[in-house]
Amino acid sequence: MAKWSKAKTIGKLKASGYQPVSIREEMRRNLIDMVKKRKNIFPGIIGFDDTVIPQIVNAIISGQDIIFLGERGQAKSRIMRSLVNLLDEEIPVIKGCEINDNPFAPICKQCRDKLAEEGDATEIAWLPRQERYGEKLATPDIAIADLIGDVDPIKVAEGRYLSDELTIHYGLIPRTNRGIFCINELPDLTDRLQVGLFNLMEERDIQIRGYRVRLLLDVFLVASANPEDYTNRGRIITPLKDRYGAQVRTHYPATIEDEISIVEMERRQFSEDRFETYMPQYMKEIIAEITHLARKSPDINQRSGVSVRVSIANYETMLSNAIRRAVTLGEKLAVPRISDLPYIRSSTSGKIELESFEEIKEDKVIDDLVRKAVLNVFNRYYRVLELEEIIAQFNGGFSVKVSDTMSAKSYVRNVKEMIGLADVVRVVNDSERLEAIASAVEFILEGLHVNKRLNKTRMEGKTVYRR
Ligand SMILES: [Zn+2]
Repeated sequence: MAKWSKAKTIGKLKASGYQPVSIREEMRRNLIDMVKKRKNIFPGIIGFDDTVIPQIVNAIISGQDIIFLGERGQAKSRIMRSLVNLLDEEIPVIKGCEINDNPFAPICKQCRDKLAEEGDATEIAWLPRQERYGEKLATPDIAIADLIGDVDPIKVAEGRYLSDELTIHYGLIPRTNRGIFCINELPDLTDRLQVGLFNLMEERDIQIRGYRVRLLLDVFLVASANPEDYTNRGRIITPLKDRYGAQVRTHYPATIEDEISIVEMERRQFSEDRFETYMPQYMKEIIAEITHLARKSPDINQRSGVSVRVSIANYETMLSNAIRRAVTLGEKLAVPRISDLPYIRSSTSGKIELESFEEIKEDKVIDDLVRKAVLNVFNRYYRVLELEEIIAQFNGGFSVKVSDTMSAKSYVRNVKEMIGLADVVRVVNDSERLEAIASAVEFILEGLHVNKRLNKTRMEGKTVYRR
């Protein structure tokens, strides 16, 4: 690369032996190289190694445009943006060209004129790959002018030829010539624009205000859509649907482990945190489990889906409530507990859509998901039959109070005399820190409650577990 990155004119570029290739050839060549070297093509994409990624690789090796079908929050945008990694670090373009013309084969009139006049002295610029990606969210108000271009009626009136590109004001797609252009939510594009897009892809010409203009663009087009919108009759014009070579279905993380990995990678972290925080594994699993259950819940609209962002936001909220407690009580370590979970209502509502608005209350739907999630996670760690010794100690009126504002010290004091509890805690917690032990104790009490072995009542802002 360095060999020709210094070339400033077409003459120097020719002398360097540089051979420009089409965008599809460029992506294909670089991809095959990455596969050969076993490089990570999509860094930060978790759980798609055996499903989505092989399909993308095949599409690019085939030189096919891709449409990604998936519900919200399935990393579609991230994947589409990381396609930029398949481009050369920089490519030469004719300096000042609006559509990144290839120095050896310019398509716009300005560049062709310039080349005819200046020849090998024509100046070139080097375009970094980050600048070769464009994207647009399809909305019904996008016009041909935005996406493809417009003709300047004044210039037409001046008597220029109708097919003269000098009369065109280029839209977003021509400006991404020799790059990757992505349209999000393709079905929301009007029919007229879909026809325009098809003509651009297939016929490589465009009609603007009745003028037909030849535009030999070299663009790799990707799009995304909600699967149901896409398959709905009439939402996408058939020729355009045919034109997309590859239809790749994305999905939510298949496992709790993948969901947790994504959350830990994506969650917001603050560099200047002076708090020590610790997120127990079982609390992580509860957060991920809530989302997985929500994706199967008949009360929740599955057409729009339940994004991984629900897990991310809930994780953040739960941790923040623990930090709030630690700061308030002057504890050194912030450890989320079961009693922090009611706060995730604020980070879950608004990210899910209920199937029915009147009959079920959103808070109840969320609370039910939380309860089921605790049950599932608890029963992966414990068998209730083996906890009879603990349960028996609640006979005779013994009770334990918990709350999200109570200190870890008072938790541990309350259960100090319980026989066998320390061993049960050790199953999920190997820390000696009181804050971690308090969290584990509450997980066990709640686990017994959701297994219907302990009663739970609310009293003066506290939760009381008893038989
Ligand atoms: Zn040009």
